[in-house]
Amino acid sequence: MENELYSLETEAKECLQNLSDETQAEEFRIRFLGRKGQFSTIMRSLGGVSAEDRPRLGQLANSVKAEIEQLFEKKKATIQNTTSLSESSAGPDLTLPGRCPAGGRLHPVTLIMQETCAIFESLGFSVAEGPDVEQDYYNFEALNIPAHHPARDMHDTFYVSDSILLRTHTSPMQARIMETQEPPLRVIAPGKVYRCDSDITHTPMFHQVEGFLVDKDISFADLKGVLTVFTQKMFKKDLPLRFRPSFFPFTEPSAEVDIACVMCNGAGCRVCKKTGWLEILGSGMIDPEVFKMVGYDPKVYSGFAFGLGIERIAMLKYGIDDIRLFYENDQRFLSQF
Ligand SMILES: [Zn+2]
Repeated sequence: MENELYSLETEAKECLQNLSDETQAEEFRIRFLGRKGQFSTIMRSLGGVSAEDRPRLGQLANSVKAEIEQLFEKKKATIQNTTSLSESSAGPDLTLPGRCPAGGRLHPVTLIMQETCAIFESLGFSVAEGPDVEQDYYNFEALNIPAHHPARDMHDTFYVSDSILLRTHTSPMQARIMETQEPPLRVIAPGKVYRCDSDITHTPMFHQVEGFLVDKDISFADLKGVLTVFTQKMFKKDLPLRFRPSFFPFTEPSAEVDIACVMCNGAGCRVCKKTGWLEILGSGMIDPEVFKMVGYDPKVYSGFAFGLGIERIAMLKYGIDDIRLFYENDQRFLSQF
């Protein structure tokens, strides 16, 4: 019996050497390792061996079989590898459908920024961009916010030096443009602005569009008309506007503008805190002091200005409740737009 085992081992090893494809491998498995294979036959004949020799022979049979099984698995893996290699060396399968690369998308802030600019351009406004790093003069002084004016506290400014800062709004473009051009003017200034502030509705950097119009006989009604057209086009709904008296140093009178809630149309919901209104931007008639700074005669010219936050509009339009989502670069969020 012992000899039988050893000769079976030698035979199996020789056969293993000569295996060259999966059919042969399967034949080998059935012949040696299958339920009716030669190893099983030997194992069954253990019953006829004396009780004294049985444990030793049983152990030997098991270890020989285990060794052959191990060698067989190895050989089978090699055969499978070479088969797949020879298949792939035949070249790519040109009948398979192609893999589509994932398309890039515009960031929601970019989308709203572009849409906002397009709406105002359709109303005859031109687009002007200015520096992010701004002089204190244009950011504050020229907008009727002198040093130590309490309104400066509202801005949480990042200062670069005593007279240089990161602009806290895009309004400096108002002063820069009026300084060099004569009315009539219809301009919007989109861009990044910076404030030392961060929570669920504030980020240290955000996007703003400042707009202003200067000409003879411009009234609050013109402001209301322009903003009404803007909200209708932006939200694709005929939403009522509400002007609430407010204060900005560079406009007089000033108003914060609310639109009827885009979610509930003014009925009251969680987004509008049951008020039916959503604050959307700040605006007003340009303060005569601002005109004097740039040499316009406030008795001849009048105008309005407004500033709106792009993230704020995007949050209202897309129903987003945390501003920080815009800057986390989460593909699952960004791919929805
Ligand atoms: Zn609502």
